[in-house]
Amino acid sequence: MAKHQFQTEIGQLLKLMTHSLYSNKEIFIRELISNSSDAIDKFNYMQLTNEKFKDENWTGKINVNLDEEDGSLTIGDNGLGMNEEDLINHLGTIAKSGTKSFVESLTGDAKKDSNLIGQFGVGFYSVFMVAQMVDVVTKKAGEEQAYMFSTDGTGEFEVKPVTKEEHGTVVYIKLKEEEKEFLSKWRVQEVIKKYSNHIAYPIMLHYTEEETTGEGDDKVTKKVKKSEKVNEATALWTLPKASLKREDYIEFYKTISHGDDEPLTYLHNKVEGANEFTTLFYIPKTAPFDLYRADYQSNVKLYVKRVFITDDDKELLPTYLRFVKGIIDSEDLPLNVSREILQENRILANIKQHSTKKILQAIKKLKDENAKIFTEQYNKVIKEGIFQDHTNKELLLEIVRYKSSTEEGMVGLDDYISRGDSEKKEIYYIIGEDEKVLRNSPLLEAYKKANIEVLILDDKEIDEIVTPAIGTFKEWTFKDITTIDAPDSKTEKEKEEISKEFKSLTEKIKEVLGEEVKEVKTTTRLTSSPSCVVKDSSDPMAGMAHMFMQMGQDMPEIPLILEINPDHDMIKKLNSLENKDKFSDMAWILLDSAKLSEGLEPKDKSAFALRVAKIATEAI
Ligand code: ADP
Repeated sequence: MAKHQFQTEIGQLLKLMTHSLYSNKEIFIRELISNSSDAIDKFNYMQLTNEKFKDENWTGKINVNLDEEDGSLTIGDNGLGMNEEDLINHLGTIAKSGTKSFVESLTGDAKKDSNLIGQFGVGFYSVFMVAQMVDVVTKKAGEEQAYMFSTDGTGEFEVKPVTKEEHGTVVYIKLKEEEKEFLSKWRVQEVIKKYSNHIAYPIMLHYTEEETTGEGDDKVTKKVKKSEKVNEATALWTLPKASLKREDYIEFYKTISHGDDEPLTYLHNKVEGANEFTTLFYIPKTAPFDLYRADYQSNVKLYVKRVFITDDDKELLPTYLRFVKGIIDSEDLPLNVSREILQENRILANIKQHSTKKILQAIKKLKDENAKIFTEQYNKVIKEGIFQDHTNKELLLEIVRYKSSTEEGMVGLDDYISRGDSEKKEIYYIIGEDEKVLRNSPLLEAYKKANIEVLILDDKEIDEIVTPAIGTFKEWTFKDITTIDAPDSKTEKEKEEISKEFKSLTEKIKEVLGEEVKEVKTTTRLTSSPSCVVKDSSDPMAGMAHMFMQMGQDMPEIPLILEINPDHDMIKKLNSLENKDKFSDMAWILLDSAKLSEGLEPKDKSAFALRVAKIATEAI
């Protein structure tokens, strides 16, 4: 007999569970049945593909046994089972990164934590909401020795060898005194029907009922053992759409997502013809915790003719759709399809392409609050998609949302172009880290004056890579306003004259600033600011951020151009300033304050502060 300590995170989780953070404890039945169903799926596959198990006379089944006298509920299956190592690794530790980071994010504040738990599946451990003691007796298919894992959920568990005939797992739950409602046939039946009706294997409920026979003095009451099948035992996605109600889809979602949330939307498609398959996809209301982790969990299960094949193939959908949960069931793939074959299979590629389109169309159809939630949760991954998926670029561009200089909230590109100049067909944007800095950027002044909408892109890291690579949307060209001439009413000739008039000033400023700027020139894009900095659009590196990212390198610095506003008093005064020291201070202030307005740092911050103090003192 071996005693083991639960991994620290599990200890924390068990504590939470025993203090019953879940408002509906009944879901432990759903979780254990779902584990059983997974284990039966796995054995089913082995029997169909592995010679060793071919001759076994077997059909997958789940048994739920209620024992009123003993105060226990037992859930058993004849699935794959576990060996000693599996028990320790799967029930004694949290292997999955998602679950681990979930537990790490628990705050100890019961209210906050219960919300978090609602978003997560805690699977097996949910049993501790109702159990005072749990024994898991299990035997792995193809192995001789069975084992029993026992715990009272307080930090330690025991594993010892036992005997068991059939492979599979039986979870014996000694219920807490106050949880005896789960001994009632009606109660348990209701829970199974609610969450597990469309588990693909029969769920048999075994219970005792008092039965009275005879009349008058001959009347005898005795307890009789009874069994009945409780669920439909057909995989939900194999049923015709017309026979399914919204509730059926939602309850099934709760089973596969191990959560309590409803999905944002779902889509169920059966495709017939040369390539036959069924898909059922859900878009969760909350993005999975591991959305931005390299080791994220795949959420799509692949079946072949209703036989489970894998839940660990990240190629079933494009990576940017990694938040989608659901099922793909193919009629055409061979059952013993290997991982390598899956990688480059034409049938799967076809399913992937079809599914991606359908999912994007469903997302596009989201309205009002749901559309808003989608944007909050997934806008960034849609941007990834724009970059990765050329086939669906247009659909993705219809889905993505941006902040805008003229509109409240998030705007779509279709709306943007409906408001824009249909002759010019240009989509203006500015990229930076901070929304406020962008909104106050001097570069926006001319657009505000001309009443032209500019998209405010503040997911800098991703926008900087994705946006310059977009090119066009419905013939409208994307334009970074920091690299183009601003809209104004002056003619080229007038601009030339201004530039000539201020030539000696711009040359003198360039002399002071030296290599810090590539060029100093006059501009008509400013109204209230004296100066601004723009990136040199003629630089061959401009707009090539995505190439550097693909090569895994940092983007080289693009030289800045300092532009000055000839209508501003400060520039006019500077033009006639004789004092050389003062001129030099002012030239640096023009550059450094323009940089600050764009969220960039002055080269020498303390020198900047000293100059400002000096000039302010003189001004008082
Ligand atoms: P999840 O089911 O989300 O993986 P659980 O905590 O419920 O998380 O279960 C952890 C692991 O324990 C499962 O992934 C599986 O490997 C194993 N397991 C749980 N129940 C069973 C069962 N009835 N039969 C076989 N393996 C099981």
